[in-house]
Amino acid sequence: MSPPPVARAEIVVDLAAIRHNVATLRRTVSPEGASPVQMMTVVKADGYGHGMVAAAAAARQAGAEWLGVATLDEAMTLRGAGDTGRVLCWLAAPGEEYAAPVAAGVDVTASSVAQLDEIAAGVAAAGSPARLQLKVDTGLSRGGATVADWPDVVARARAGEEAGTWQVTGIWSHFACSDEPDHPANDAQERVFVEALAVAEAAGLRPEVRHLANSAAALLRPSSWFDLVRCGLASYGLDPAPGHSPDLGLVPAMTARARLVLTKPLAAGASVSYGHTWTAGQPTTVGLVPAGYGDGVPRHASNSAETWVAGKRRPVRGRICMDQFVVDLEGDEAGAGDEVVLFGTGRDGEPTAQDWAEACGTISYEIVTRIGGRMTRRHV
Ligand code: PLP
Repeated sequence: MSPPPVARAEIVVDLAAIRHNVATLRRTVSPEGASPVQMMTVVKADGYGHGMVAAAAAARQAGAEWLGVATLDEAMTLRGAGDTGRVLCWLAAPGEEYAAPVAAGVDVTASSVAQLDEIAAGVAAAGSPARLQLKVDTGLSRGGATVADWPDVVARARAGEEAGTWQVTGIWSHFACSDEPDHPANDAQERVFVEALAVAEAAGLRPEVRHLANSAAALLRPSSWFDLVRCGLASYGLDPAPGHSPDLGLVPAMTARARLVLTKPLAAGASVSYGHTWTAGQPTTVGLVPAGYGDGVPRHASNSAETWVAGKRRPVRGRICMDQFVVDLEGDEAGAGDEVVLFGTGRDGEPTAQDWAEACGTISYEIVTRIGGRMTRRHV
């Protein structure tokens, strides 16, 4: 671990870890001798809190052929930062402007005939054909054309292709339960996807890439890899299916840390923080950590998560406040200015984002995506 930050509280992102993880995932889905599967690193939501542009550059360096984002704005931010590779975008609201992303060669997604019409308008404004991917709903019941609507979407997409409006570059869908490898929905979704591909093929569509797998499926379900996998969480070194994933040696890229503002003795019977939800059963020493829910530290970590100070796990005591919270140093020597790691790699025993997720009753996706706020972010 590098020396304590001068900043009050900071996020340190290890770009070498992202490169390592992306390279490891690529090797996993393209073992020697097998036909290669392309890698899309998902960098939406500011690279899951790691910094989208920096994470994207690290992924490209590690060989990611594709980047995946939710919004058109995110795609354009990548282009503005100089990324010229393939970028897929999958979420636009009615009325959003497609012309710029189409002109910038972003692959855009349609789930309905109405969306195809909007993209066609963007193509007319851009004066250049779109790269279009079609999404089919295989059972997540979120985005994607319903199976009932799929033939109409396919027919309209094929007609647009013949008219030179776009090229259908991909067909894809998204799993609901890939973090539960034995869940019957996985087989069912894969079956529906194969049927949808057959409908598209019969209509004359020949997409470059067919894709279904997210991180958990990339780790656990080779039958779902098709031509490409879309890996978000695992690229950042976090486990998408705790208890199920093989150990690939992925390295968490994010460390959240701060410096203790002060330490003080606490008498037995003294209570801590708003609501007095924790009371010292015996004399102890507590430390004040200068980060709170205004910095994305989840309030659900109150009385549940642990931090790491001076080589030991130190529990959060009382409620997380907007700007600060209290940890129990349990009488050990630690002083103002000492480093407190909220979560990191876990290599030395410090908590991980997964530990925080379990303490907070959520998933590590939410921990890393929401942390930040006023904290400094530093890429190393
Ligand atoms: N594909 C789509 C459409 C997504 O929305 C996401 C993230 O939620 C991913 C892939 C990546 O998922 P994961 O982070 O589990 O790899």
